[in-house]
Amino acid sequence: MSGSGKKIVAVSNRLPITVKRGDSGLEIKSGAGGLVTALAPVLRNRGGTWIGWLGHSGTLEIEGLLEKASIDTGYELYPVWLTEDEVNNYYHGFSNEVLWPLYHDLQTRCRFEPRYWDFYLAVNKKFAAAVETKSTEEDFVWVHDYHLTHLARELKERGVSRKTGFFLHIPFPTLDIFLRLPWRRQILEAMLEYDLVGFQTLRDRRHFVQCVQSLVPGARIRGRGQVLKATYRGRELRIGTFPISIDYRGFATDAASEPVSTTAWYLHEALPERQVILGVDRLDYTKGIPERLWAFETALERYPELKEKVTLVQVVVPSREDVEEYKALKAEIDGLVGKINGRFTSSGWVPIHYLYRSLDRTELLAYYRLAEIALVTPLKDGMNLVCKEYCACNIEGKGVLVLSEFAGAAAQLHRWALMVNPYDVINVSDAIHKAFTMGRKERRSRMSRMRANIRRQDIFWWVNSFLQAAFSSKLDAFPQVIEDYIPDQQKILVRKFHP
Ligand code: UDP
Repeated sequence: MSGSGKKIVAVSNRLPITVKRGDSGLEIKSGAGGLVTALAPVLRNRGGTWIGWLGHSGTLEIEGLLEKASIDTGYELYPVWLTEDEVNNYYHGFSNEVLWPLYHDLQTRCRFEPRYWDFYLAVNKKFAAAVETKSTEEDFVWVHDYHLTHLARELKERGVSRKTGFFLHIPFPTLDIFLRLPWRRQILEAMLEYDLVGFQTLRDRRHFVQCVQSLVPGARIRGRGQVLKATYRGRELRIGTFPISIDYRGFATDAASEPVSTTAWYLHEALPERQVILGVDRLDYTKGIPERLWAFETALERYPELKEKVTLVQVVVPSREDVEEYKALKAEIDGLVGKINGRFTSSGWVPIHYLYRSLDRTELLAYYRLAEIALVTPLKDGMNLVCKEYCACNIEGKGVLVLSEFAGAAAQLHRWALMVNPYDVINVSDAIHKAFTMGRKERRSRMSRMRANIRRQDIFWWVNSFLQAAFSSKLDAFPQVIEDYIPDQQKILVRKFHP
């Protein structure tokens, strides 16, 4: 990466740590996700800083603990404190009840409450103040996700000049859907205040470009390929595509470790002579869990030979359980699992093993490693890391990935996964059957190509390509070719009628 002497200031809604009250008072645990793993070396080598909220309203007496955690991680952790009102209106409100459902094409779930918008702006101002305090003009400020679209604009309003980049981890909707947003123009204009705006897929970027061209008359966008150039209010910015990934080598190595191998063996021994179909999702209406259960039930009806030969292990990681909508979703899933198991269970066979909890890493990797089929069928997903983790851990190469057309990962994996429309239960049930009957050779060939693709474009590649786009002066210096994916209806129909 060029631009030496600069340091990176990462900004996200949440700091990559969790604070828990233990026996001896408050305890801090650092996060272990792919983003943290990948950003850590760039932050650490350059004395970087990570700014974010701690996930609690009000302040906590953790100054000393944060300092210690900063020493352990090698970069500074700087908290932004939010009041209860801010948490309710900026986080639960604007972020989770407006942008999250809208950007996932579920506009009927949106609550366009005017009060939310005021708090959204106020909290973005707060984050901008923190960035001003913790950075200099030399630094690169890398802002993550939809909670903070206004940060660059708020910095400018404070008269603070910084080089800024923004990455949207979730999808960007089509113009038709985006038009519903009462603050549509403000959001687009604010995003154009960054120096680099990154999306997961070409499809998301295309939607954004269409929205800008329709709603922001002063903006000009030009170019082709992975990074486009734009001009807005007399300045240049870049708009690129950077599909996020995982620490492939970390997953593949850990999947081959002794504890994971032993756990996988024991788990599969409990399900003899059966293919394990795996679903792993956070409790969220975007993940299509009820639709998937319905498709599984349809598969058992349409293909009776699957009975007693497959077990669906559905892991649902609890999330936002205090919100009514999520409580209702949990109740719906509980009901469907009960109904399907009640209908199909026979002596010695329970069709769905339902785990409503988060798994530790060994158990999760063991499931990834042992499952013959992964069902990744979100209604819409920015990327979906579960499918990439599944492939990385599938070291025997025997797994089949059934993947939603509406996951960002489809752009990279569509040639080797069995692609499905998650709303079409017949289509998904056919794919389950096709995966079940797929021979060893075809499984290996498809899986090894997916693994090679994810290995090549891992999370370190993602960080490098974003930073290179931010700092490189020549557009042809951008390294990789990104694929677009538009569902091929013809192919889907063929698959549907000739399973
Ligand atoms: N995951 C986890 N605990 C679990 C199961 C899964 O932490 O018990 C992780 C999983 O390893 C993956 C993430 O949750 O990294 C889910 O990421 P994804 O992009 O698939 O969906 P998101 O939840 O971010 O929408």
